[in-house]
Amino acid sequence: MSASRVLVLNSGSSSVKYQLLDMRDSTRLAMGLVERIGEQSSRIRHTHVGADDTREWSGPIADHDAALKAVSEELAKDGLGLDSRELAAIGHRVVHGGKTFTEPTVIDDAVLAEIERLIPVAPLHNPANLTGIRTAQALRPDLPQVAVFDTAFHTTMPESAARYAIDVRTADEHRVRRYGFHGTSHAYVSRATAKLLGKAPEDVNVIVLHLGNGASASAVRGGRCVDTSMGLTPLEGLVMGTRSGDMDPAVIFHLARVGGMSIDEIDALLNKKSGLVGLCGDNDMREIRRRVDEGDEEAKLAFDIYIHRLKKYIGAYYAVLGTVDAIAFTAGVGENAAAVREAAVAGLETLGLAVDGALNAVRGDEPRLISPADARVKVAVVPTDEELEIATQTYALVGRY
Ligand code: AMP
Repeated sequence: MSASRVLVLNSGSSSVKYQLLDMRDSTRLAMGLVERIGEQSSRIRHTHVGADDTREWSGPIADHDAALKAVSEELAKDGLGLDSRELAAIGHRVVHGGKTFTEPTVIDDAVLAEIERLIPVAPLHNPANLTGIRTAQALRPDLPQVAVFDTAFHTTMPESAARYAIDVRTADEHRVRRYGFHGTSHAYVSRATAKLLGKAPEDVNVIVLHLGNGASASAVRGGRCVDTSMGLTPLEGLVMGTRSGDMDPAVIFHLARVGGMSIDEIDALLNKKSGLVGLCGDNDMREIRRRVDEGDEEAKLAFDIYIHRLKKYIGAYYAVLGTVDAIAFTAGVGENAAAVREAAVAGLETLGLAVDGALNAVRGDEPRLISPADARVKVAVVPTDEELEIATQTYALVGRY
C-alpha cells in the first residue's frame, strides 16, 4: 500500500483535536486543536511539525463541518491537504464501544448505528464522536474511516470484574456494567512498559496508572486487561481533577432527599466540581504542589486523599494480578509529578515497590525506570501517546482492508 498517512480525529462536543501521522516511520507531520466550535470566538491552533511552525487563528467556526474544513485548509497550506492520495485512512477516537466493539473497526452504516445505540451510556461523548465521523465521511467518502474505542482494551475483563453486584435483569436491561475508559492509553502504555523491561507483553503483568485530569488504573495480565478503575462512566475509581471517583452510591440519594438537589445538579457536582477541584479549588497538580510546599492545609489534604485512593488501587490490583512485574505512571500528572509517584509507592517496600529519589527527579520524554536497580517490581514512567496508538491501530486495520 503506497498511501501511508493517517489522520487521527478526536471530536468533542465543541472541539476537534487532530494529528496527521506518517505511518512508515510513525512520525507526526502536523497536529492541532479547534476549540469553541459554534461560538463567535472559535480558535484553531495548528502546528506543522516538520517546519516547526505554529499558527493560530480566531473567528467564528459554526459547526464540525466548518471546523474540519478549516483543518483541511491549514493542512493544505503545509502541502499536507486531506485530498492527498497519501492519506490512507482517518482514525476516530470513539469513547464508548459498549460490549460490542472489542477492537478497532472500519466504519460502515451498521457501525454508525451501533455507536448511536450506545448514546444512552455515553450521552456527552458518542454524539460528538458521531458528528466528527459523519463530517469526515462527507469530506472523503472514498477513504476508510476507522473507529478506535476507549472501551475496547477493557473488554477482556472477566465478568467478575465487569459486573456490578446489582440485580442481573435490571443491569442487563439498561446495559449497566463496568466498561472502563482510557483504553488506548492503557494498551499503549502496558505494551511500552513490557518493551522497556525487554519482554513481550504476554510475559508481563503491569499496573498502569493513567493520571491526567481524568485518571484511571488498570491491571494488565500478559497484555490483556483484567480490571480497570472506571466503570459504566468515567466517574468511578481514582480521585481526578474534577471527578469524585469512588463513593458510597447512597451519597446521591442523600443529596437528593436531604439536600434537595436534582439528578442533573448531582451529576454536575460529582463530574465537574469534585475531585481535587472540589477538595481544594485547584485541579492542576502543579498548583496543588506549590500550595502544599507553602504549607497550605487544604491543598495538603486534597493531595493526601488523592494519594490514599491511588495507593488503594495499587494494592487492589497487586492482589488481582498476584504477581506484578511493573507499575507504570503515565499522563499529565503521572509523567510529570515526581511527588505523586514517590508518595503513591511510599511504604510499599514489602510488596517489592520503591522509587529511587534521583531517578524519580529526572525529567524526560522517553519511557524510563525510576525504581532502584535491584527492585523486585519495576516502577516506570511511560509517556502515553493515544494518537499514535489510534493511528497504529487504524493503519494496521486498513492494511488488511
Ligand atoms: P492530561 O489530562 O494527561 O493532559 O493531564 C493534565 C494534568 O496534568 C493537569 O491538570 C495537571 O494536573 C497535570 N500536570 C501537567 N504538567 C504537570 C507538571 N509539570 N507537574 C505536575 N502536574 C502536571
